[in-house]
Amino acid sequence: MEINLKTPIENIGGVGKTTASRLKRVGLENAEDLLFYFPSRHEDFRNIVKIADLKTDQQATVLGKIEQISSRRSWKRKKMTIIEAVISDETGQIKLLWFNQYYIPKVLSQGDEIYVSGKAMVSRYGLQISNPTFEKAQNIGQIHTAGLIPIYPTTYNLSQKQIRYLIKTVLPLAAQIEDFLPDDVKKGCSLIGLQEAIKSIHFPQKEEGFKKAKKRLTFDELFLIQLTTLKSKKELDSQKAYSINFKEKEIKEFVKKLPFTLTDSQRKSAWEIIKNLEHDHPMNRLLEGDVGSGKTIVAALAMLNSALNGFQVALMVPTEILAWQHFLQISELFKKQHLHIAALTTSLHHVSRGINKPRKINRKRIIDEMQEGKMNIVIGTHALIQEKIKFDKLALAIIDEQHRFGVDQRKKLVDKSGDIDTTPHLLSMTATPIPRSLSLTIYGDLDLSIINELPEGRKQIITKVVETKDREKSYEFIREKVKQGEQVFVICPLIEESDKLGYKSVKQEYEKLSKEVFPELEIALLHGKLGADEKEKIMQNFKDNKTNILISTSVVEVGVDIPNATIMLIESAERFGLAQLHQFRGRVGRGEKQSHCLLFSESENETTKKRLDALVKSTDGFELAQKDLELRGPGEVYGTKQSGIPTLKLASLLDMPLVKKTRDWALKTLDHDPSLDDYPKLKEKVLNNLKRIHFE
Ligand code: ADP
Ligand code: MG
Repeated sequence: MEINLKTPIENIGGVGKTTASRLKRVGLENAEDLLFYFPSRHEDFRNIVKIADLKTDQQATVLGKIEQISSRRSWKRKKMTIIEAVISDETGQIKLLWFNQYYIPKVLSQGDEIYVSGKAMVSRYGLQISNPTFEKAQNIGQIHTAGLIPIYPTTYNLSQKQIRYLIKTVLPLAAQIEDFLPDDVKKGCSLIGLQEAIKSIHFPQKEEGFKKAKKRLTFDELFLIQLTTLKSKKELDSQKAYSINFKEKEIKEFVKKLPFTLTDSQRKSAWEIIKNLEHDHPMNRLLEGDVGSGKTIVAALAMLNSALNGFQVALMVPTEILAWQHFLQISELFKKQHLHIAALTTSLHHVSRGINKPRKINRKRIIDEMQEGKMNIVIGTHALIQEKIKFDKLALAIIDEQHRFGVDQRKKLVDKSGDIDTTPHLLSMTATPIPRSLSLTIYGDLDLSIINELPEGRKQIITKVVETKDREKSYEFIREKVKQGEQVFVICPLIEESDKLGYKSVKQEYEKLSKEVFPELEIALLHGKLGADEKEKIMQNFKDNKTNILISTSVVEVGVDIPNATIMLIESAERFGLAQLHQFRGRVGRGEKQSHCLLFSESENETTKKRLDALVKSTDGFELAQKDLELRGPGEVYGTKQSGIPTLKLASLLDMPLVKKTRDWALKTLDHDPSLDDYPKLKEKVLNNLKRIHFE
């Protein structure tokens, strides 16, 4: 059958049902997808040597005849099947070993001429190669050996051979691919054509060809993202938003009455935000500030200013606990303002009005009052973006801990304006600093406000990795601190015990601490599976210092603010990422007392040690984010996995010079042709991206 770029994967020669479903799981649906499935690297097998010239520890390819081949069970390790072969050329012979590759005796037999690639090692019996790749010599045009061999990122039991074979099969179709990059851009950046790039990225003749291919394809990835974000930004700039007046007198009055003075950077950020809200185009601003730097009060000023203008405000947070906390805090802050404030989550439906105590009311009534415009401020979780939720005049949407939300969730919130002609201003908040290159790419150059200092009087949190033998000492330390009225968090990764994982669970620790270690103390247990009422009660008791120790899962990871808590003890710390550990630690050190973070881990893993060590050495969120980035990569750290951006195969989001260059060329292209009508193929790609992504 004739194949083309759109031929489904299952119609390509030799692909069976199982393989097809595996390929689909990697996102490979048709021939074109295969062409754009790039290798992660190449192995250099061009070096065909004679057996006598083989050197130990060197990657090489030999051509030889199979003298004998047999398979046997290992008597030491009963479950292993070992296939042994000896091949020879005119200069000598060498032994080959494969482990558990049962199919090999079916495809290779005595007398076959094969290419074998791998590293030769010295064994008791002379030189041998373990688990070499191989290929029969009569196959014309070697693709698995003898050359620069592409190595693909394989998963789901797909083998390198399978993928290589398929790609080789569809490679001639590269000639049908249309190059979407404008000629000016190609010339200006000395980039090769797309067809040539596709061919050489898979099977390059020389390193040079591979380099050129990589340069072209890497450029494409970032260039397309830049075009998309710039276009999306232009769209946003063309939309209308409510212009919110700065109620200077009222806001200054309010700030004066706060129980603390704002830090300079809180003041500056609040000013930037409030000024930005005066525009009649939607704001798209990120407020960045380390854990505990006081972002909430800055957001509160923007909320108050909007509410004083008669507009509605929505604040979306990732957890119910945080929604409840913000609801209480904001209600308390605004109790003299005669505002109607609601909390709305799957299980919360509470309101506070002025000096009246917060109370539970009918959920439907809250929803109605939101739609009628009577509710000034609504604080909630994902519940806020349900279909049936509507606003009357939503002028400002705020998202706390923005990295915990996906792009489409953010989009759903700003789609709730209540007036189809306006888009709400958007303020996102995060404690995870975003490098400039990333904010230029994935965030489409959103505006930044930064809080780069902590409120005065905070003491540095002391962080320690505690060895198992010192566990008792830590418990004594905790006992002392509790005697002085201070409170403690204990974090475990799991709710219930699990033999398989061997991590600590909150239930197990609760049993142990409440019965054996601290029978005299008040200890509470918190996890995500409890009902909202229960969670509220537990948090309230902890806040009121009726509980000394709170044993919790990661539900308290972000945002929770209990200034009297001074010890954060983390069990199975290896289970958590660096940014997450930093967030946990940020739950203490919020008052003026000296706080401690105690890390327990049974892992001997090197990366874990590095991670915990980094945490001990630094309390600076920016530095830690940098470290986390090195250890885990941008996908994990910045949640780009859920950003809606097509996964980048080659480009590094952190490659600042390339980010700049692609951005400049994207700007030039759009200046020259804002509609992109001159470049239909390019336009199609950008529109496809736009459909998938709405940048904040
Ligand atoms: P985060 O930036 O982590 O969200 P919060 O907004 O929860 O931090 O603030 C942390 C704590 O610091 C809160 O208890 C808050 O009341 C307090 N706080 C905020 N700003 C100041 C300030 N300027 N001076 C003293 N305390 C402050
Ligand atoms: Mg916060």
